[in-house]
Amino acid sequence: MLIDLDRFKDINDLFGHQTGDEVLVAIADALKTVLSENDSAARIGGDEFAMLLRDVKTEEDAFRRTDEILVALKAICMLNDGRFGVHFSVGVSLISFGETETSTLISRADHALYKSKQTKDTAVVLYDAQMDDSFNEKQVLKQKMAADIQENRFYLDFQPVVDAGNHSIVAAEGLARWRGEDGALVGPVTFIPIAEESGMIATLGGRLFDDLCACIAKRFSDQKNVVIPISINVSPIQARDPGFAVRFINTIERHAIPPQYINIELTESSFVHSIDVVQTNLEMIRHYGVGGQIDDFGTGYSSLSLLKDLPFDAVKIDRSFVQDVGKVVWADAIVKALVDMGENLGFRTIAEGIETEEQAFALRDLGVTCLQGYYFSRPISREAFATLLSGDGYCNVA
Ligand code: C2E
Ligand code: MG
Ligand code: MG
Repeated sequence: MLIDLDRFKDINDLFGHQTGDEVLVAIADALKTVLSENDSAARIGGDEFAMLLRDVKTEEDAFRRTDEILVALKAICMLNDGRFGVHFSVGVSLISFGETETSTLISRADHALYKSKQTKDTAVVLYDAQMDDSFNEKQVLKQKMAADIQENRFYLDFQPVVDAGNHSIVAAEGLARWRGEDGALVGPVTFIPIAEESGMIATLGGRLFDDLCACIAKRFSDQKNVVIPISINVSPIQARDPGFAVRFINTIERHAIPPQYINIELTESSFVHSIDVVQTNLEMIRHYGVGGQIDDFGTGYSSLSLLKDLPFDAVKIDRSFVQDVGKVVWADAIVKALVDMGENLGFRTIAEGIETEEQAFALRDLGVTCLQGYYFSRPISREAFATLLSGDGYCNVA
């Protein structure tokens, strides 16, 4: 059985390393209370524990023992007076004595643990042979991605951002897309996490940004073209790299484009770890003249100090609020509070994921500055976007 402590890094960051150490010791102590003489336990990684339980004969036994262990663990792991719940992921693999190599047993439990980590709540997952398939599929996907990044098969589509008052197109967001050899389109929700996990995100993000700058420079080369600011999404992993800002600025300089035509979008989760590095990167980039937007505001830690201390000039209000605007009182109240804060602290508000006319009008009435969503336009190819821009400057909504 493998047990992994979820969000251990957050515990260290939020409560300090001493608390992190204390949690690990408390876990070890709790395990001692529930393991019998024949069992063994070891810490095999930063926040990962392995247990060998000998008296487990059936799947029911396995779930019962795991439950006992989790009850013992949860009782001790209540930080901050219970406000910070500690959660675990658990992978279990069963064998008959002598049937399987130790390394196979651990790797099977690891595949089950990987599956467990993909679910939000503490979940106990028992290994089954199909997991090898999904694990192998992922390895194949990783190899394909690495090759396709080199061959520039990743590109950006563009989604317009409109003025909330008159619906004229004032900016756009670049959204990564991947078209594999078979022509199938894969979305960023699938490939960005894999790129992050495997370390490919720096190369992928760098190439997409280079491509965006080239595209903007090309539009500037013809004076007839309307040029508007475009935002690029940056992964927390990229933003935590101390060399990120210098590379980002170099790319803009290489293409000789005015920095105010670029906006950088960072999610709140970028500021959970290594906040100093991320802040320094953001400050350098903002100082250079690039716009800075917090993405998906309201879905993560949503600390007000992000708005106060960091040099953002726009906040993107997440779709989950937009959906409830005009229907649920608190959604209106939160949007209104952000708009008021924006007016006082000097940032614009951009609402994301507008799908209906009612939402567009409700958000305008609440004072939101800009709107983005399928109601105005889905993300479209760069050619389609260029055509849209060369029109009357508005999205034609039905
Ligand atoms: P995001 O930055 O919040 O982008 C907005 C997402 O909402 C996009 O999904 C967009 O297609 C979708 N969307 C826009 N309007 C609507 C609407 O009215 N209704 C609904 N249901 N959805 C709408 P997409 O393109 O699948 O991107 C998902 C996420 O992937 C992005 O969320 C962003 O976090 C990430 N991402 C996209 N491109 C990149 C990239 O180049 N680099 C990095 N690091 N992340 C990226
Ligand atoms: Mg975004
Ligand atoms: Mg967003």
